[in-house]
Amino acid sequence: MARYDTEVLVVGAGAVGVAVARELCRFRTRVLVADRLNDVGGDASKSNSAIVHTGFDAEPRTLESETVVHANPLFDRLCRDLEIPFIRCGAILVATTEEEEEALPRIMQRAEQNQVFDVEYLTAQRARRLEPALTSARAGLLVPGESIVDPFLLVVAQAENAAQNGVEFLTSCEIERIERSAQTFVVSSTLGEIRARFVVNAAGLRGDVVSHMVGIEDFTVHPRRGQFHVIDRSAPLGIRHIILPVPTKLTKGTLLTPTVHGNWLIGPTAEEMEDRCAHETTADGMEEIVRGAGRLVPGFDPRHVITQYAGLRAVRTPGGYHLRSFARVPGFIELSGIRSTGITASPVVARRALAMLRAAGLETQPDEDFVATRTGIPAFRDLDDVERAALIERDQRYGRIVCRCETVTEAEIVQAVQRTPGARDMDGVKRRVRAGLGRCQGGFCGSRVPRILSELLGVPLERVTRNGLGSELLAGPTRAPGDSP
Ligand SMILES: Cc1cc2nc3c(=O)[nH]c(=O)nc-3n(C[C@H](O)[C@H](O)[C@H](O)COP(=O)(O)OP(=O)(O)OC[C@H]3O[C@@H](n4cnc5c(N)ncnc54)[C@H](O)[C@@H]3O)c2cc1C
Repeated sequence: MARYDTEVLVVGAGAVGVAVARELCRFRTRVLVADRLNDVGGDASKSNSAIVHTGFDAEPRTLESETVVHANPLFDRLCRDLEIPFIRCGAILVATTEEEEEALPRIMQRAEQNQVFDVEYLTAQRARRLEPALTSARAGLLVPGESIVDPFLLVVAQAENAAQNGVEFLTSCEIERIERSAQTFVVSSTLGEIRARFVVNAAGLRGDVVSHMVGIEDFTVHPRRGQFHVIDRSAPLGIRHIILPVPTKLTKGTLLTPTVHGNWLIGPTAEEMEDRCAHETTADGMEEIVRGAGRLVPGFDPRHVITQYAGLRAVRTPGGYHLRSFARVPGFIELSGIRSTGITASPVVARRALAMLRAAGLETQPDEDFVATRTGIPAFRDLDDVERAALIERDQRYGRIVCRCETVTEAEIVQAVQRTPGARDMDGVKRRVRAGLGRCQGGFCGSRVPRILSELLGVPLERVTRNGLGSELLAGPTRAPGDSP
């Protein structure tokens, strides 16, 4: 088995882990990120509502509200530097009953307590002027800073940039045991032994399991599932803002949000679960969110739903964000309880992690060779004819459309695989360049993408997977070449 030596080991390559890695790669520090999954992207980080929150409705004076409020303004620069799709579309919180209308002043007050001062009261008329579909609105609030991001590329782009700046990524690498000897952590993983001076626990839903490995056993984590429907961009919805219901004591309710790629999401549910792999969707969950969407947008038509997914929030007990270091385990940093707002909070959580690492003795010499920017894979579908012709001139594979729904070319898929860290399976390609994410959900490209992966990765077609071992697409050949059909 291999042996790895590093200064900082980050456990988890979700939004939080890669943000930490990207923060650290500005310095002459050796960093290794390990994830049990076969790709970067995390668990919750790839199945959420994709909203960059302002923190207007967060519980005031908590670490979560403070982190979220400070993180939101950082996204313009982060997304510009790393070419991550990001839109400041704003949100409308809609009151549809008298009781909800009465709750609006309280929500505005909470926004002010959280230093979000640009929330605006909307009459029914003005809400409908902004979004004509809100025919049941009695009143509302406009929250201009609420924004949407591509959550897949948020993680992938930071990972690519960190890798470009020297961070090493180990995927399919589950951390199984952590021991401390003298100044070093000796970490056993499925890929071999890792020696590190510092360990950052960014393991999300399994954060308690990783902390227990060093004897910190004062908390547990369980999943709270959130199911979503994805609505095709051809649906006659026309909604441009994030549409939020008035939250109740029990739930934030179903929201309806545009995505940065022109379609919409409705969801999520909030179901307490025990199984940390309970990613399945259910008929009841789907009905619940269609009902919820119908309350916000009367006449909402579920026929335009093209697929479903579910994400698992990491619910910590005791609750709240916990960004901790420990006198009895020097060099171990725990980032836990990052439940419903971690996409947003991740850049500030990463800065806090850096500060804690420094306090624990990490030396941070700025790396003069640090490259702050990353170039995205040019998306053929977003270009005009002249730009498309220039790309095809440069690389003929831009002339071959593989995914017709999302207009994704072979050249884009090749780049998704060849970058570091690159796609290793169908879902990795989908998340990086959208092949298979459109209306037919891979009906056309589902046979071509595996061939490209097989060729580039040098593995037989039968070993190409949807998302890692056990999800192989093909069992084996049914005919030898030359056999008659
Ligand atoms: C339904 C839903 C909606 C949400 N909506 C939003 C939203 O709109 N805006 C927002 O800001 N946030 C939202 N969130 C919250 C956000 O998605 C999470 O807070 C964030 O993704 C957490 O990131 P993470 O890196 O901590 O965790 P994860 O993405 O879960 O990553 C943790 C990683 O650690 C790895 N790991 C675990 N154990 C080990 C081990 N032993 N060895 C190696 N690797 C390990 C896992 O494989 C995983 O990849 C939502 C979450 C859900 C579920």
